[in-house]
Amino acid sequence: MKRILVTGGAGFLGSHLCERLLNEGNEVICLDNYFTGNKRNIVHLMGNPYFEVIRHDITAPFFIEVDEIYNLACPASPIHYQYNPIKTVKTSVMGAINMLGLAKRINAKILQASTSEVYGDPTVHPQPEEYWGNVNPNGLRSCYDEGKRCAETLFFDYHRQNHVKIKVVRIFNTYGPHMHPNDGRVVSNFIMQALQGQDITIYGSGEQTRSFCYCDDLIEGLIRMMATDNSVTGPINMGNPNEFTIKQLAELVIELTGSKSQIVYQPAAQDDPQQRQPIIDKAKAILDWQPTVQLREGLEKTIEYFREIL
Ligand code: NAD
Ligand code: UDP
Repeated sequence: MKRILVTGGAGFLGSHLCERLLNEGNEVICLDNYFTGNKRNIVHLMGNPYFEVIRHDITAPFFIEVDEIYNLACPASPIHYQYNPIKTVKTSVMGAINMLGLAKRINAKILQASTSEVYGDPTVHPQPEEYWGNVNPNGLRSCYDEGKRCAETLFFDYHRQNHVKIKVVRIFNTYGPHMHPNDGRVVSNFIMQALQGQDITIYGSGEQTRSFCYCDDLIEGLIRMMATDNSVTGPINMGNPNEFTIKQLAELVIELTGSKSQIVYQPAAQDDPQQRQPIIDKAKAILDWQPTVQLREGLEKTIEYFREIL
């Protein structure tokens, strides 16, 4: 039995990860400040004696003995990470320093939930790990993008300087049950709007693209990455390479919900990446991983979840 710390464990991805790790017979410590996470996501795990929940903010140091750390704490939706951008930078940067310091001291493996946002609005398409990105350093998205880029820098410096065992995963748009209904991200927004008969709000032309990965596939990838030997550090892309325009997503959500909602167009978000698709050759080769749930199936499961909570 391993003892594993999951920061951001009450969030969307964190809660699925905690559940999966517990099911595999590990002891799991979930650490969260509940900024965007919710106890509802983990309440079904709380009866498990090997599950421990701690309210803590990772911008402050934290001491514990564990074998592995998954560092997921950080708001991921543009609305939430732009709500208090200075705090977002602190969470990414000070959080990384605190968790890396912990990993160093206790000799734990540590995995960082990095992001496709490190590529910014990419001029190279699709995106390989070697691409350095096209990021605005002082725009509205910078607190998240640059925070995550600096966190990657810290991970690699702790690895080079202190031999910390790091795993850096660049996650591309992932969706599924446990997303916050008011999260503001496109999948949850469109489903909530469709189920409530409200207008579906497309920001910009709707021709911008994203590649959507179902949460179970992503969690499988994170676990495989953590299980690699110490020579595997990443960064490694993780996502579903099937690319859709936002307009196609809106139409699919309307079809699958049987909604009468209309699509309306609103101004584009600042610095909105126009295209995004991961090259996942490394994940395939190193982890023998690729997504198995395609968008239609994943959306059906997600719609079912949102119907229940409504
Ligand atoms: P989420 O907002 O649902 O989860 C983030 C969790 O971190 C929440 O429970 C929140 O309360 C917690 N948190 C935030 N700041 C904290 C702090 N200072 N201290 C302690 N806890 C804090 O988002 P998610 O989609 O589950 O994302 C999880 C991680 O994966 C994030 O680091 C995110 O950047 C990364 N990621 C997610 C996606 C995606 O598409 N879902 C894509 C790329 C990267
Ligand atoms: N988007 C949209 N309507 C919404 C929410 C998002 O058109 O109600 C667009 C957004 O402008 C972006 C894409 O959908 O082009 C993905 O946005 P999201 O916030 O989910 O994630 P991002 O990949 O931008 O971080």
